[in-house]
Amino acid sequence: MATGKINVSVDNIFPLIKKFLYSDHEIFLRELISNATDATLKLKHLTAIGEAKVEYGTPIIEVKIDKEGKKIHITDQGIGMTQEEVEKYINEVAFSGAEEFLNKYEDGAKDAGIIGHFGLGFYSAFMVAHKVEIITKSFKEDTQAVHWSCDGSPEFNLEPAEKEERGTEIILHIAEDSTEFLEENRISELLRKYNKFMPIPIKFGTRTETLPKPEDAKEDDPAPTQEVDNFVNNPNPAWTKQPTDLEDKDYKEFYRELYPMQFEEPLFHIHLNVDYPFNLTGILYFPKLTNDLNIQKDKIQLYQNQVFVTDNVEGIVPEFLTMLRGVIDSPDIPLNVSRSYLQADGAVKKISSYITRKVADKLNSLFKNNREDFEKKWNDIKIVIEYGMLSEEKFFEKADKFALYPTVDGAYYTFEELQEKIKANQTDKDDKLVILYASDKQSQHSYIQAAKAKNYEVLLLDSPIIGHLMQKLETSKEKISFARVDADHIDNLIKKEETQISKLSDEEKEKLKVSLEEVIDDKSYTVQLEAMDSTASPFIITEPEFMRRMKEMQQTGGGGMFGMGNMPDMYNIIVNTNHELVGEILNTKTAKKKERLINQSIDLAKLSKGLLKGEELTEFIKRSYEMVK
Ligand code: ADP
Ligand code: MG
Repeated sequence: MATGKINVSVDNIFPLIKKFLYSDHEIFLRELISNATDATLKLKHLTAIGEAKVEYGTPIIEVKIDKEGKKIHITDQGIGMTQEEVEKYINEVAFSGAEEFLNKYEDGAKDAGIIGHFGLGFYSAFMVAHKVEIITKSFKEDTQAVHWSCDGSPEFNLEPAEKEERGTEIILHIAEDSTEFLEENRISELLRKYNKFMPIPIKFGTRTETLPKPEDAKEDDPAPTQEVDNFVNNPNPAWTKQPTDLEDKDYKEFYRELYPMQFEEPLFHIHLNVDYPFNLTGILYFPKLTNDLNIQKDKIQLYQNQVFVTDNVEGIVPEFLTMLRGVIDSPDIPLNVSRSYLQADGAVKKISSYITRKVADKLNSLFKNNREDFEKKWNDIKIVIEYGMLSEEKFFEKADKFALYPTVDGAYYTFEELQEKIKANQTDKDDKLVILYASDKQSQHSYIQAAKAKNYEVLLLDSPIIGHLMQKLETSKEKISFARVDADHIDNLIKKEETQISKLSDEEKEKLKVSLEEVIDDKSYTVQLEAMDSTASPFIITEPEFMRRMKEMQQTGGGGMFGMGNMPDMYNIIVNTNHELVGEILNTKTAKKKERLINQSIDLAKLSKGLLKGEELTEFIKRSYEMVK
């Protein structure tokens, strides 16, 4: 029997580990299972290269709770340790055996998927245990099994032990303040969270399996059952496989495995797979998104060698893609010691731009190979794409070729196609291409009709951030501008050379304006006389593009001009001086009748823009009944 002092660089590292290193006590299990996994994978590697002469077999890891004895056992059938190795790897805190193994077997070992890194994981056991024991036997021939134990002070015990099979058993004597970890449910939860996709099968208890009924069983005989080992993980998750070995249904199945509470199917997936200049695998899914940008509970999960790290992928994935779901696995993402936080650095930036590029390429190939399907999905993916175009210049350049602009009639154009299509008819006298759009087919119906009467194409743009995107397109492309159909009278939205002659003289116009302004006693409406086609509407209410867009942009965060969000809505009343009704109003002699005509006309204009409400609407209905009498 040997006793000795654990060799640490800091005088007493335990309080440090307990308090600061791992703020999350629950990660002890992840660390110990990671070590068991490493020990098994090392053996696999050594048998593969012929350095270990033992049968690798089908090793498993077992987690057992001994509630009575207040203990947790974690057992593996891996490489094990000799006495010298325990002294070296366990007693010398912060001397990572994993790192040493990686250095020694350089290339091959990297592929072996070893998790350990910092040489501190094992000691996280002391966060929940007042005493820890190791019983271990090396795979090497003729070695003595050893028993190490330590009660959390820097003193340890090391003695020979009885153990027949190779591998390691870790026994945690759970501390009084950590008895939650003796609950089966709690351990199940942790295994689900961290170990669901680890590469070595993990057994935790048993479960009851229903067997098929024997042929001669009677109708209401209960089906026979049997107790079988309960394995908690899928050691070969989809992202670790080759894309060529997977079918669409495999990706969908994996999605359900990742998010068991998610019943909606993903729209499509992107399989990530690089090994140079960094190593990264993963599968990203485009979920169906609603216009509500805030709801998001199922997030992208980050793994390292199949060990769950975090679902906060900020920095690794560009912000606009955090709306996606799925898995990213990369041993090259630098983490702090507790493996719970990312360390910002250049590698992370490279990963982020790789992911952006992959997503753009995938979208582009979907667009190219199956445009019809892409159009169908557009409504569900547009927010991500539009957001990406706004926030990542590189993505903008690529997405500009496949971003779609739907019309109110359900056609979909790329920007280039749209330009080609409307160039002849929608270029104004200043050589500017005016792109007309509506945000709501119902409430802007009459304006859409007016535009269509001129054979103009009207887009239907209704996502919450579209204002920002229009702003960006207007500044990055030449001579184009967007205008909502109700921003002005259609002849003013796309001004052509020909000018209409007014039927009214300047004097008559002045008189008309005064009469109108007397009746319309509301500061948010500005009267504007226009000589238009006599068949066009006599009165139209418009909402100038600039102000409205700025206000909308401010509501969806930034971009707009300061203070615009709180400005009242401003409208123009466009009066068609060439319309018969307007002439009639001008020439009506009785003041009462004139007022009634004006009120009725303005109310009709408001009605067609959905602005007639409350008392005004009641008044209007009353007046209308009187008029039809
Ligand atoms: P790391 O995993 O980062 O190397 P740990 O503190 O988790 O650091 O473990 C220290 C070392 O102890 C490991 O590198 C390994 O050599 C040894 N070790 C720990 N657990 C086991 C185990 N179950 N089987 C074999 N060796 C182990
Ligand atoms: Mg470790």
